Amino acid sequence: MAYSGAMRLLLVEDDTMIGEAVHEALQGEGYAVDWTRDGGQADAALAAQSYDLVLLDLGLPGRDGLAVLRALRARKDRTPVLIATARDGVARRIEGLDAGADDYVLKPYDLDELLARIRALLRRAAGRAEPVYEHQGVSINPATREVRVQGRSVALSAREWAVLEPLIARPGLVLSRQQLEDKLYGWGDEIASNAVEVFIHGLRRKLGASLILNVRGVGYMVPA
Ligand code: CA
Repeated sequence: MAYSGAMRLLLVEDDTMIGEAVHEALQGEGYAVDWTRDGGQADAALAAQSYDLVLLDLGLPGRDGLAVLRALRARKDRTPVLIATARDGVARRIEGLDAGADDYVLKPYDLDELLARIRALLRRAAGRAEPVYEHQGVSINPATREVRVQGRSVALSAREWAVLEPLIARPGLVLSRQQLEDKLYGWGDEIASNAVEVFIHGLRRKLGASLILNVRGVGYMVPA
């Protein structure tokens, strides 16, 4: 799966000030973000829910970030993991990469670099190297959130974007209404029972009725 807007991320960071800044930046990009502050909670969240990416601080109360990472990989869980280490923490970075992390960022975070590395990992996880989606005359650039239909620029709301992106990232894959709802919101947000249908309706109006198909009783897909 891939990208800003539609993706669900787990942020594991015990420092409140840093965590708040990163949480806000990720939400600002349209990601649904769950934030945990210790290793034990991170373990529990990763066991209970599937994420598109984990941003994992290594120095954590409860359980060390490396232990969380090793446990995740021991469960054969392939969720992309971006570890965060201190600038001088070379040994920890190497240990983390060898324990199954996909990439690292240095703390203090450069937020623009962090967001770019997240986009790159999500792109790779979706099995794509190219940064722009093209499908049935609709093109989407996840970095700029530019959406074009037959070359014409189209504006989407943040939540329309959140519904569209996971569908168009994997043409032919059916996502249930519940899976799309999960992409929409972080923990604790209220959602209307027909929210996904409303956004799908808006997307069809803007992008063409045939782009998103309703697979009766199963969910939605963009045809391959
Ligand atoms: Ca820490």
